[in-house]
Amino acid sequence: MIDGYGRNIDYLRVSVTDRCNLRCKYCMPEEGIGDLGHTRILTLEQVHRLIQVAAGVGFKKVRFTGGEPLVRKNLVELIRNTANIAEIEDISMTTNGILFADMAGELKQGGLTRVNISLDTLVDEKFKYITRRGKLDDVKKGIQKALELNMDPVKINMVVMKGFNDNEILDFADLAYHYPLHVRFIEFMPIGNLPFHKQERVMSIEDIQDIIKQEYVLLPAEKIKGSGPARYYQLKGGQGSVGFISPLSQHFCASCNRIRLTADGKLRSCLYHNREVDLKLAVQNGLGDEQLAQLFKKAIRNKPGRHEMSNGWGIENERKMFQIGG
Ligand code: SAM
Ligand code: SF4
Repeated sequence: MIDGYGRNIDYLRVSVTDRCNLRCKYCMPEEGIGDLGHTRILTLEQVHRLIQVAAGVGFKKVRFTGGEPLVRKNLVELIRNTANIAEIEDISMTTNGILFADMAGELKQGGLTRVNISLDTLVDEKFKYITRRGKLDDVKKGIQKALELNMDPVKINMVVMKGFNDNEILDFADLAYHYPLHVRFIEFMPIGNLPFHKQERVMSIEDIQDIIKQEYVLLPAEKIKGSGPARYYQLKGGQGSVGFISPLSQHFCASCNRIRLTADGKLRSCLYHNREVDLKLAVQNGLGDEQLAQLFKKAIRNKPGRHEMSNGWGIENERKMFQIGG
């Protein structure tokens, strides 16, 4: 379906939980989270139904996210059911990778063919510091497993934060050189107004590229599956690629094709805007599929032309990233 700005909206990001086994400083507060609990969260049957309705409206791609999607019980069943929806051509997931190695086989069997694994540092202590509880080794095993299973593509998401991991940019580029990994460098976004959010930590994509160019020749890459907002480059002579996502310095709203479904059943047509359509209430009130389809259409119609995220430092958002589904 085409929105008010001529964009074809066919990509649904589905958050299946607001729970997480990590507490990344830039995404979640350490305490006082008060997850939504079973009653306020959509059941997986409801999620499946809503994806079916979305498919009828024209959505073709689904990404599962969270919180951490792999902590949601029976996720594999949801993936399998989603893979059975004829109109859905592509199913992907964004995960912190902690549980991925153990679950990868069944996820692949269920229909997950590709994965994005978030990783911001390759140093044990820094990993523990930024995630407040995770083990880097578990994520490494997850990445290895995704490669062993020939998931394609396997993408690594690195949020670049000055003073924290900007000195590891070349180490991450090395990963893309030596392995068939697509490493995406993402600008730090002011979502959630957490103590860690400081504008000085933002590193522009231009500066990130300059660092990589000190060691590597960047060649424009062919389109990589699900390439979305990232601009990809091959590293000359290397196996994988590097991608750059610049929500702030060069926002990509003009080509944005996505809508988000939060774990508590709200349709959110822009990551940064609080305008939401309440699908959970609609389902509870017994609305039929055609009426639900109308609500999807309403969210698409209301999708803002662009976000104003660069003015967002220090501003309270109603939701933090783990509650929206990044
Ligand atoms: N738990 C999963 C994970 O970490 O991949 C999925 C949910 S997480 C909210 C999705 C993505 O959002 C991750 O890649 C994470 O690094 C990114 N993210 C969270 N807060 C961010 C921020 N303030 N700026 C940029 N990216 C952020
Ligand atoms: Fe959890 Fe992902 Fe947020 Fe980290 S970025 S706290 S892993 S939801």
